[in-house]
Amino acid sequence: VNAAALAPSLRERHAHLLAALDDELRACGRAPDAVTILAVAKRQPLERVREALAAGIAHVGESYYQEAVRKYGLEREALAAARLHFIGRVQTNKAAGIARLFDVVQSVDRPEAALALDRAARRIGKRLVVLLQLNLAAPGRQGCDPSEAERLAEVVHACPGLHLDGVMAMGPLTDDRRAIARAFERAAAVFARIGGTTLSLGMSGDWREAVRAGATMIRIGTALFGSRGVAAAGTAPDSSEPSS
Ligand SMILES: *Cc1c(COP(=O)(O)O)cnc(C)c1O
Repeated sequence: VNAAALAPSLRERHAHLLAALDDELRACGRAPDAVTILAVAKRQPLERVREALAAGIAHVGESYYQEAVRKYGLEREALAAARLHFIGRVQTNKAAGIARLFDVVQSVDRPEAALALDRAARRIGKRLVVLLQLNLAAPGRQGCDPSEAERLAEVVHACPGLHLDGVMAMGPLTDDRRAIARAFERAAAVFARIGGTTLSLGMSGDWREAVRAGATMIRIGTALFGSRGVAAAGTAPDSSEPSS
């Protein structure tokens, strides 16, 4: 049996996801276009990203700055009109590159990251769209504590090179659907206080809970591209970058 012949294509996975998203939106009484799909392309080769763009994807997410530079180049011609979102940890020594390459940084989780991105964006005359990343899971994980989000929002509002557009968070790593839903509801409450247009919640395994909690963007990797498995040659993150 040829396994490749049985595996669904990216186009089929995308169509399946759109249909399931449509059903979920209908079930919770939300508008059919209320949620945008961000295709998370970390550890996927450029060829797969091209397939996603051809299937209608308009937003691409990357977790590692160096992988994104290698994949798209500093001019990002391959991405055409698609918007590129950074969803990994913002290392301040890479802020200049991140501010140049990306349209949106979803992972601002501390004042130092905001200030470094602000300096870098102003230097190139750009107003960078950013989201605050909340930590809804366990202490020590990436993201700002929800109780500190308003203070971090004030820092970002004071940065002329940044435009605060909402909140991003990852759900807790658990099979307890109620716990996931509660965590996303906490993120939605912070989003309501902070404002903006983007509530980025939910991944392949928990996007339904995210949609029910009011997400306007879901970040989908494996349900769209299939397993990340082993990194393809030339696209592996640097050993200095954590793999997740
Ligand atoms: C990898 C990643 C995703 C996508 O995860 P999947 O489970 O493959 O859909 C979404 N958000 C962030 C921040 C990620 O690092």
